[in-house]
Amino acid sequence: MAQEQVDPYWQLRPAAPTSDDEVCRCPAGTEVMLRDGLSDNPLFCVACNGEVPPERLGFDARFAEEIANWLSVYDSLYRLWLDSGEYETWAAIRLSDPQSQVNRTGREIVARLNELGRAYYWWFVDTNDATVEKPILCPVCSIQLTEYEGRDLRVCAACRILA
Ligand SMILES: [Zn+2]
Ligand SMILES: [Zn+2]
Repeated sequence: MAQEQVDPYWQLRPAAPTSDDEVCRCPAGTEVMLRDGLSDNPLFCVACNGEVPPERLGFDARFAEEIANWLSVYDSLYRLWLDSGEYETWAAIRLSDPQSQVNRTGREIVARLNELGRAYYWWFVDTNDATVEKPILCPVCSIQLTEYEGRDLRVCAACRILA
């Protein structure tokens, strides 16, 4: 039997299983963020930062594949940026641009996740560049971000952005 028939989320399962203490144990309904954590599952809990098992949100295999495809592109750019080599600046520009394909697709995924629960798109900040600071304004709508209570994060509730 093909693997995807067994587990609709097989593409989002980390190759090395996440240790128990890094998996979110918050109640269902806790806010999640779509973020590249350099693993196969980009769903994280906003409250505890733990990995959120996809079945807690409950979506179909097709959407799981779309998320995996987005992550594959995002992760490629993110690793080029992390590598700090020839492609660093190029990758940072794509990851910082609200209109880039990877961010448009990521925000579309978050919009669909919001039909299942409350979800945010984690915004890339070029921490390699000392002149770049965490955004004060929403990168999409330019309205001032507000503090996310209890975390060192800022949020645009309208655009579902977390920075
Ligand atoms: Zn949690
Ligand atoms: Zn906004």
